[in-house]
Amino acid sequence: MTLLDGLTWTNRFADLGPDFFTELPAQGLPDPHWVARSPGCAALLGWPADWAEHAEALAAFSGNATWPGMRPLASVYSGHQFGVWAGQLGDGRALWLGEVSTPGGLQELQLKGGGLTPYSRRGDGRAVLRSSIREFLCSEAMAALGVPTTRALCITGSQLPVRRETVETAAIVTRVAPSFVRFGHFEHFAHHQQHGALRCLFDWFVAHHAPECADADEPPVALLQRVSLQTADLLAHWQAIGFCHGVMNTDNMSMLGLTLDYGPFGFMDAFDPGHICNHSDDRGRYAYARQPAVAFWNLHALAQALMPLMPIATDQEAEASGERLIAAVESFRERFASQMLGHMRAKLGLAGEAPGDQALADDLLKMMAASGADYTITFRRLSRALSEPQALRDQFIDRAALDAWLPRWRERTAPDAEARMLAANPAVVLRNHLAEGAIRAASQGDFSEIERLLKVLSRPFDEPENPADAALPPDWAQSLEVSCSS
Ligand code: AMP
Ligand code: MG
Ligand code: MG
Repeated sequence: MTLLDGLTWTNRFADLGPDFFTELPAQGLPDPHWVARSPGCAALLGWPADWAEHAEALAAFSGNATWPGMRPLASVYSGHQFGVWAGQLGDGRALWLGEVSTPGGLQELQLKGGGLTPYSRRGDGRAVLRSSIREFLCSEAMAALGVPTTRALCITGSQLPVRRETVETAAIVTRVAPSFVRFGHFEHFAHHQQHGALRCLFDWFVAHHAPECADADEPPVALLQRVSLQTADLLAHWQAIGFCHGVMNTDNMSMLGLTLDYGPFGFMDAFDPGHICNHSDDRGRYAYARQPAVAFWNLHALAQALMPLMPIATDQEAEASGERLIAAVESFRERFASQMLGHMRAKLGLAGEAPGDQALADDLLKMMAASGADYTITFRRLSRALSEPQALRDQFIDRAALDAWLPRWRERTAPDAEARMLAANPAVVLRNHLAEGAIRAASQGDFSEIERLLKVLSRPFDEPENPADAALPPDWAQSLEVSCSS
């Protein structure tokens, strides 16, 4: 029995027809080898623990073979990058392989870094080992943190040289999600006034991924509302764990509210609302505190793209349609605020809900910003501060302010606050220097640090065996920069 015997593939995206994609095989990595595999993602697929030992696995996920039923294709999309219409983009280095049936439903698989496609523009269709390790580890770390995300099954590598600022080597990440459809897919057909194709895409997406919207009075409004609420939930998760995406362009926004396209992302070390994780984002458009507003802006771009699906025959109709779409986007605000407050209540271990909770959280965050307190460590120490407040106090410069805040907090805490907080405030997140350690070892051919880190990141609420995994970044990490180059 081989791995392939039990697998059933479908290619529902391919049903859309050639306006939406180009079918083409991957350009396989020469002489490929395994770099990493995620047991958690394999379990999600329902694959046996030894799945990667089957020879056909390395061949498929290095782009050198397709399995029966797979139908590789690159899709076309457009989008707004850094707030400006960027025109046609598309899968410049990603290939959809199809969907495989799993115990939890269909999952799409994509290769990222599988070579040139008609949408590669000036790119080479490749992904480097460095950025592939970052995407792989962070996808799996986010899943373990409970954040909606695309998953990563494995990385394959090769000695194939790839030129970025320096010459690096090529890798392919196999990523997994119920759908990789982006806001930009809809924007593409709206912008080019291909309203028939836009309608096809809409009906296809609703039928397969948002069936409850089909029966709504106005399906486009219902879908936009659904995406707005999911995106609000996603952003609340990001803000609560101190995650910065780095490139929140509309082509990187998932129609399922998943974290998508890991590039120059970062987890904040010292808390700074203005923190910019992407070295290429010199104006800070995607700074930490701006992420919710950017998501809201992106949802308006999606609303604009859905407009041709609404009644617009007369000016009056068009105006009323626009208002109904905008109202759907507006649902983001309240949902984000309530979800964010919910996360904060969990992070603070509060009992029930009280009117002063928002102020209590805001006051803590203000003190953290003033002290440049480490985001993850501070909440972790707060989790234990009912019994040992000193370790928390060490994070703050203005201890008098903290001492005034602590009794307000203590009074609001639930009886089992410590246990609840330790389950809400992770000990370990994928700080840049942790990823960097795994990248440096891997570029010397040692992949064991990736495997070790993956294990630690898969249990982020447990105290790690190696305290350094949960510690402040070392001095050398200050000079790390991550940019769009990947
Ligand atoms: P990103 O900034 O990663 O979201 O990518 C923006 C666009 O550039 C997408 O259409 C990508 O497919 C494309 N792209 C990024 N890197 C490459 C590359 N190395 N080769 C081809 N296309 C790329
Ligand atoms: Mg992208
Ligand atoms: Mg990228």
